[in-house]
Amino acid sequence: MDSLTTLAAALSYAMGIEPPAQAEPKNEALSHYVDEAFGGRKADRIFMYNPDAIAYWVQRKYPFFMETVTKNTDLAISFRTAFPPVTPVCFGTMYTGAEPKVHGIMKYERPVIRIDTLFDALIRAGKKPLIISIENCSMSLIFNERPMDYIIKKTVEEANAAAMEAILEDKYDFIAVYNDNYDHCMHAAGPEDVRTLAEMRYNDRMFGTFADLIRRHWTRHDTLLGFGMDHGCHARYKEKESGVSLGDHGYDIPEDREICHYYKALPAVEK
Ligand SMILES: [Zn+2]
Repeated sequence: MDSLTTLAAALSYAMGIEPPAQAEPKNEALSHYVDEAFGGRKADRIFMYNPDAIAYWVQRKYPFFMETVTKNTDLAISFRTAFPPVTPVCFGTMYTGAEPKVHGIMKYERPVIRIDTLFDALIRAGKKPLIISIENCSMSLIFNERPMDYIIKKTVEEANAAAMEAILEDKYDFIAVYNDNYDHCMHAAGPEDVRTLAEMRYNDRMFGTFADLIRRHWTRHDTLLGFGMDHGCHARYKEKESGVSLGDHGYDIPEDREICHYYKALPAVEK
């Protein structure tokens, strides 16, 4: 299982830009896939869909609810996420390529990250990144204060509608779209509750919609499409934890630390 610290340099490699200054070496599986799929060219677009907390064990146990993602992608990469596996720590690692002690968020707190990030690397390379997030979530806070665009919405529906508008607008080189719906329901009802699994299915189907829109509207771009969460989760039990949430994450256990990302290269069909 690869470390999530390898992702930022691999996404940089995919676009042919210098990685963030403190990123660890690039993920070989993703880099190799990109080389093969684009025939040696680089991606000029990356669209990353970041649904929060969908654990690898949940994906394996309920593959039906991930069917749209698996149908729309070629490459699955299992990652061990950062510790502690909580949202700002893990997204910090995902988009800096650095361990928490290097990027500075080592627990559940949400300061603006001061070290070099993938977003800084993109801006230096003359690319236009965009983060679309839900308000008061880690993704709407920790990468702030860069000269780039942020779209912050109240609901996942509004955020995903904004993502569709951004795809049609066709002006951003890197788009990261954050959704908190699975995580939110998982804490309240548990990772396997029917309501929580329905949220996972929503993320799965939403990804299919983005993929379809990108296939039809970004035909002149070599696009890398990604479905990648920050960390996993585990069930808590009512009898032991009466009155508290039924799902959680933050421990050094496979349920919380093992995740699986999915990627698809969509080579340009016209230039
Ligand atoms: Zn999270």
